[in-house]
Amino acid sequence: MTPTAASSPGSHPGSPAGPSVGPSVSPFAGTSRLNAARRTFELEALADDPHIDLLVIGGGVTGAGAALDAASRGLRTVLVEARDLAFGTSRWSSKLVHGGLRYLASGRVKVARESAVERGVLMTRTAPHLVRALPQLVPLIPDLLRPGQASLIRAGFHAGDALRLGAGTPGALLPRVRRVDAARTRRLVPGVRTAGLRGALVAHDGQLVDDARLVVALARTAAQYGASVLTRVRAESVTGTSARLVDTLTGQTLTVTAGAVINATGVWAGEVDTSIKLRPSRGAHLLVDAATLGHPTAALTVPVPGSTSRFVFALPQQLGRVAIGLTDEDAPGPIPDEPQPTEAELTFLLDTVNAALATELTRQDVCGAYAGLRPLIDTGGGNTADISREHAVLESPSGVVTVVGGKLTTYRRMAEDAVDAAVRLRGLPARTCWTARLPLVGAPGHRDSRPAPASPVPASLLARHGGAAHEVLAAGELAPVADDLDVTRAEIAYAVTHEGALDTADVLDRRTRIGLVKADAERARKAVEEIVAEAASEIAPQ
Ligand SMILES: Cc1cc2nc3c(=O)[nH]c(=O)nc-3n(C[C@H](O)[C@H](O)[C@H](O)COP(=O)(O)OP(=O)(O)OC[C@H]3O[C@@H](n4cnc5c(N)ncnc54)[C@H](O)[C@@H]3O)c2cc1C
Repeated sequence: MTPTAASSPGSHPGSPAGPSVGPSVSPFAGTSRLNAARRTFELEALADDPHIDLLVIGGGVTGAGAALDAASRGLRTVLVEARDLAFGTSRWSSKLVHGGLRYLASGRVKVARESAVERGVLMTRTAPHLVRALPQLVPLIPDLLRPGQASLIRAGFHAGDALRLGAGTPGALLPRVRRVDAARTRRLVPGVRTAGLRGALVAHDGQLVDDARLVVALARTAAQYGASVLTRVRAESVTGTSARLVDTLTGQTLTVTAGAVINATGVWAGEVDTSIKLRPSRGAHLLVDAATLGHPTAALTVPVPGSTSRFVFALPQQLGRVAIGLTDEDAPGPIPDEPQPTEAELTFLLDTVNAALATELTRQDVCGAYAGLRPLIDTGGGNTADISREHAVLESPSGVVTVVGGKLTTYRRMAEDAVDAAVRLRGLPARTCWTARLPLVGAPGHRDSRPAPASPVPASLLARHGGAAHEVLAAGELAPVADDLDVTRAEIAYAVTHEGALDTADVLDRRTRIGLVKADAERARKAVEEIVAEAASEIAPQ
């Protein structure tokens, strides 16, 4: 449990540490590069010296956040992920950085405040390059709204504004709620129904360019602070101080001992620690081409008939798509690798959104669909929609510290609470958490970030990479990987050399989201395979 010199408590918090695992001097020390060569090096280093301060299991937003929290506090940290970064729920979200309004509506003031604060942290300090302000528009069409519902929504939006103010997030970043006329409504969402349209209420929330990109940025920043980030490594036989690690690429195993073990495996938490009881809830989205709604720049928010607090959202996304979601359905039974939306969910989403559209969408318009499982804590009966989105940190009889529940927006707070618990329970040699002011890879203020290059760079590349765009440009060509797909060949190569992608699926399904639309994936596959193979040959183990 000896901190390396570079990561010892007392060194300047802003100094990325060298690798914390193993005695060898690493060629990757202080860099955020994740790739196959680093993975091999760090697995070997771990085999040489398998005693660490903290093992984090699960490479979703929570585990990656916990690894960054721990490594930046000076702990020798290893993160293991059985498949790939963001393989689980963290890639199936609505990609919203919530201000907590919906929690306020159900009286959960603490969760609402926490969400608003964490949204502000992401948008102002840690990842402003990945989060933009998204206008959310509720069309004022009388037959869509129950009597009094417009007033309720307006009051809710004002309460959301109060949360924003309370969190210290400037109005310049998230403009205040306002009412717009019908013409402005149509400019924001050209596909909106015009019959009876009296304008709209517009509020703002945060939207990630992509959820999986946040996870990768967290994992890379953690690696820069000395964490070993090991994908395709499954943790088995987990106790409070040890685990057997299986390299799923080679079948080799290794037992590590740790000062503490954090279980951040989301809906799989009960498989790692059988004392954890979850009640997963499935949420589905479908995807349509943005052209079918006239390329909206705001999210269309449609009340669910019969409910005062549920809405279906049509959310503009990168790659010229609109995601329409979402559902909240009990999902008992074994946890699938990739949950699938049901026919009933797709019908519900289409029917609800169609009520607010000038031209109805049909099943032929649906170019993709996805579903994810919320890792909700089992609190007994009731609807899954009513279960608190609060997170919990639990120490099980085996000594494993499990962090579960919560949401993407509050990952940083979840990570801080989990590491605090591990430090307190096991007396780990850590300094205090400072992740609220730690810029992630690509954020302004991150030491490797540069201003946007002078040469013309696609806006989509800047939105995905921020201040790291200069590194992406150095990795390859700016030509698109396929016609009409605004992902460049350079980004594919960079995914392999810097973002820990180990194969074509990692690139198509998680570093980029090309794979969400199967037809797009097929058009890009051959070129992606070639670039992945070429980039992989350049980073053969050193
Ligand atoms: C449909 C939907 C929409 C949502 N929308 C939003 C939103 O807009 N905004 C928001 O803030 N939140 C949203 N959420 C909530 C949010 O997505 C989740 O709370 C969050 O992503 C959970 O992340 P996690 O890291 O805890 O779990 P996961 O992302 O599931 O990560 C767990 C990881 O653990 C790995 N793992 C499992 N077992 C092992 C093992 N034995 N060894 C090693 N690794 C293992 C898995 O492969 C997986 O990658 C949404 C959720 C859903 C389902």
